[in-house]
Amino acid sequence: MSLLDLPEQDATLVAGVLARQRRALAKAITLIESSRLDHQARAHKVLEALLPSTGKAIRIGISGVPGVGKSTVIEALGLYLIEQGHRVAVLAIDPSSSISGGSILGDKTRMELLSQRDEAFIRPSPASGALGGVAHRTREALLLCEAAGFDVVIVETVGVGQSETAVAGMTDVFVLLQLPNAGDDLQGIKKGIVELADIVVFNKADIDPRAAEVACGQMRSALHMLRPLSTHWQIPVLKISAAKKEGLTEFWQAIEKYRQTMVAAGEFDSKRKHQALAWMWDMIETGLHQQFREHPIIKRELTGVADGVSCGKITPAAGAHQLLGYLK
Ligand code: GDP
Repeated sequence: MSLLDLPEQDATLVAGVLARQRRALAKAITLIESSRLDHQARAHKVLEALLPSTGKAIRIGISGVPGVGKSTVIEALGLYLIEQGHRVAVLAIDPSSSISGGSILGDKTRMELLSQRDEAFIRPSPASGALGGVAHRTREALLLCEAAGFDVVIVETVGVGQSETAVAGMTDVFVLLQLPNAGDDLQGIKKGIVELADIVVFNKADIDPRAAEVACGQMRSALHMLRPLSTHWQIPVLKISAAKKEGLTEFWQAIEKYRQTMVAAGEFDSKRKHQALAWMWDMIETGLHQQFREHPIIKRELTGVADGVSCGKITPAAGAHQLLGYLK
């Protein structure tokens, strides 16, 4: 796909993204978020044209319960990285935003300093649709940010539900933020979120440094009981204070070290390849599901078959077999 194959407005959009114009990037993301079919077709071509310019950022997932300090941490880290010469994009996945209509990044007062910087781009979670659709659009937005020259892309999510898995599935390194005084480090492990973490960070260490140290120790021993995601990587447990901007250098060093270690072990690229394939299968499943629901015969027969299954006249397997048969 070359720029010449695109209609003028989209060629201008692509050129704007490549020229690192934040306005063009925001417009391109709006295009990929649109549910209009003509927009989707355009978005597909725009992404295809930008694809060769993607892939160069480090993709960081950051998760933690509301109040743990995600936006404070991201703002502090973002400003720190800008001082080091980086360009930082922040995206979000918030499964609650489709219910509340709000978004974890929707509140304009969040990350106010970071949002004022030319070297930063902050985009709230797409507010509508199921998690699958939101995750898909965020993955594409991430690629657009890379094409726009952001070399650090942070995807933020709240520490509940399936959104962690979605974010871990689109980022290179997944950071779990924890509170030192939460009391039970096993809570996170039970929820299965700690299993996804490549780095664990206790924030708000300034409040009670001793408690933060204890919490780090507890987490380290808890992590010993888990099967590591990679045999090459021992999950570091750090303490920081985003409010006081303490521990940011160590935090960034841990991310860099993770990247270097994974690259050296050949796991960095293989993780991305695996993620790309998983994304494709995800889209195939979504597409098949949609085709199934929209098929004219299935639409007509579905209620009858479903009634038959629910009152025990047809077995679930026979019902599924019958309906799937119409797809052929
Ligand atoms: P989020 O909901 O996870 O995004 O959390 P916020 O970043 O909005 O932070 C929640 C509250 O914790 C705010 O009042 C912050 O000022 C405060 N906070 C965040 N980081 C720190 C920290 O390192 N130390 C202290 N003492 N407070 C913090």
